[in-house]
Amino acid sequence: MTSKILIAGSGFAGLWAALSAARAVSLAGREDDVEVTIVSPTPNVAIRPRLYEIDLANMHPDISALLDAVGVRHLAGLVDSIDSAARTVTVRTHDGGWTTLGYDRFILAAGSRLFRPDIPGIDLVFDADQHDSAHALDRHLKALAEAPETPARNTVVVAGGGLTGLETATEMPARLRAALGSDAAIRVVIVDTAPTIGAAMGAEAVPHIHEALGQAGVESRAGVRVAAIEPGAVVLSSGERIETDTVVWSAGMRAHPLAATIPGEHDPLGRVVGDPFLHAPDAPGVFVTGDTVKAATDDQGNFNVMSCQHAMSLGRVAGHNAAAELVGLPLHPYSQPKYVTCLDLGPWGALYTEGWERAVRFVGDEGKAIKREINGVWIYPPAPDRDAVFGIANPDYVIVP
Ligand SMILES: Cc1cc2nc3c(=O)[nH]c(=O)nc-3n(C[C@H](O)[C@H](O)[C@H](O)COP(=O)(O)OP(=O)(O)OC[C@H]3O[C@@H](n4cnc5c(N)ncnc54)[C@H](O)[C@@H]3O)c2cc1C
Repeated sequence: MTSKILIAGSGFAGLWAALSAARAVSLAGREDDVEVTIVSPTPNVAIRPRLYEIDLANMHPDISALLDAVGVRHLAGLVDSIDSAARTVTVRTHDGGWTTLGYDRFILAAGSRLFRPDIPGIDLVFDADQHDSAHALDRHLKALAEAPETPARNTVVVAGGGLTGLETATEMPARLRAALGSDAAIRVVIVDTAPTIGAAMGAEAVPHIHEALGQAGVESRAGVRVAAIEPGAVVLSSGERIETDTVVWSAGMRAHPLAATIPGEHDPLGRVVGDPFLHAPDAPGVFVTGDTVKAATDDQGNFNVMSCQHAMSLGRVAGHNAAAELVGLPLHPYSQPKYVTCLDLGPWGALYTEGWERAVRFVGDEGKAIKREINGVWIYPPAPDRDAVFGIANPDYVIVP
């Protein structure tokens, strides 16, 4: 009888889980009796780390040929619920129907979503979190050119000064000028609750971040939060009211809601606390990966963050282990001791740090060259060449050398 590995999600983790599972099945010579299937809305990877950029071309590459090359099936739909006791999932299919699928191993790789707190006017915000919402923001920015020139039209407020907020804010002046003309009196403001914008990137990084914000002409509001959004304005907890037609929400991510339905311990971000092999420990037959899992990256007390850097490695490990259990190969524990960040800071360049202490290694143009390499090459799906793909789909593949 055919064994089934079912993967929910075709993002960084889901794709690499599928490729790694297919590799393990092939290593064991079991292609004829182990089936690997991805369920996701379309056979595409959303290149989420680039969705703040001015040009949204090639942010949703098609992976059909790649999946065909390694014998992975794709079902267009959304996993709606998981019954880990019965080992079934229900799927809302692309054509609007419903189907129930059985599995021998299930891998949850449905990623994360922007966290939107319950504050007045939250429905008025834009974001760069998902492919569709990033395009909605892009259309809105371009349409501003048709609106009467007002301070609100010319102003963008970015709520959240973490990595995505900083990237969004420092790219925004160029986007506004492209939409409104180089002479427009544009204004970009970044708001964060931390006493210093960029503090989460570490003390060594802060002066660089402030220099980059200054060079881009981005104003900062630190130590305050967005209290309410109104049509044409945003109100801060300090009482300041900023006229704006565009609030971009960028204040944190949470694991996909399906993670909450997996039995077991969850962290405050809604991620399932996985074991070293990325099992969901209280749901036999279920693996959790990418942004849906919290897993130790080393034996020093560090854990993965929601990032494609971690998702691509977590995916490989979950996919390998799901297949390994079915074909009798050794399981591989997740380990990813090297951690880097590369923060795009607009025209100033980018900031590249190494380690959990975030030691600054490259800044400005040097950092930007690395960011271009990461964003333009490293995170994209590989070409549909079966042998070449299997050569880099191993669970101990080192993402950052
Ligand atoms: C603006 C921005 C900038 C970022 N910058 C960086 C960066 O510089 N570096 C970095 O490492 N990370 C960055 N990230 C984070 C990174 O994009 C995520 O951590 C990463 O995408 C997680 O990968 P994933 O595969 O777990 O989930 P996702 O990429 O979110 O993929 C989830 C997949 O699941 C599918 N799916 C969703 N619901 C269902 C369902 N019910 N059933 C089936 N499929 C489903 C989705 O369609 C998608 O295919 C950034 C994110 C954003 C938004």
